[in-house]
Amino acid sequence: MSSLLCKSFLFMQRKSPCPISHSTTVNTTRARLRGVVFDMDGTLTVPVIDFAAMYKAVLGNDEYRRIKAENPSGIDILHHIERWSPDKQRKAYGIIRDFERQGLDRLRIMPGAVELCEFLDSKKIRRGLITRNVKEAVDLFHLRSGIMFSPALSREFRPCKPDPAPLLHICSTWEFQPNEVMMVGDSLKDDVTCGKLAGAFTCLLDEKGRYSLADFNNVDVEPDFKVSSLSEVHSLLEANFDLMP
Ligand SMILES: [Mg+2]
Repeated sequence: MSSLLCKSFLFMQRKSPCPISHSTTVNTTRARLRGVVFDMDGTLTVPVIDFAAMYKAVLGNDEYRRIKAENPSGIDILHHIERWSPDKQRKAYGIIRDFERQGLDRLRIMPGAVELCEFLDSKKIRRGLITRNVKEAVDLFHLRSGIMFSPALSREFRPCKPDPAPLLHICSTWEFQPNEVMMVGDSLKDDVTCGKLAGAFTCLLDEKGRYSLADFNNVDVEPDFKVSSLSEVHSLLEANFDLMP
């Protein structure tokens, strides 16, 4: 598959989201791409939720430090809460919702998101959304951005990312194979893992250079592509895929 070539080239070059720029002598068999599924917080919206503060408030400082040490790639707070008593769970979800509501008040659309969606529309490529946030946040995002994603699955759909179930559900709704879809998100732990487990292409949005090559060596998953802004996704898709509805 051409993505393997893309991937190895990408991780050697690291700077270009568009690994094959002089491809006249390269095997031009390209994968067909029919749909793109996006994460919401930190991908389609500018990150405003302080997740570390949220986790500390839910877990307490000591438990937060312990769990963080055991999970260097990130804490799956929803997974931890699931094991708690109903009363403890209610309190935890209350804290999480407070943080998420504060995030909603400051919600801003990620630069490049509207343009990327217009490009996908022009190619008749489907777009979906998967978030671990609540449906209320997705509704507000749809309202503020003026762009609709369908299906748009919030955490009311279980199991959540990184489980591949929500992405497989979208593929089945669209009647596409997972390898005809790309998952785009800012979390290696949630978005890239979800995409990989489903068998989709994956693109990590790493705006601030949080992830180095060493991070990919230390985890089981590695994105097919890595970009530092959504505006790079447009050229990446055109250079590496046959965009066919
Ligand atoms: Mg995110």
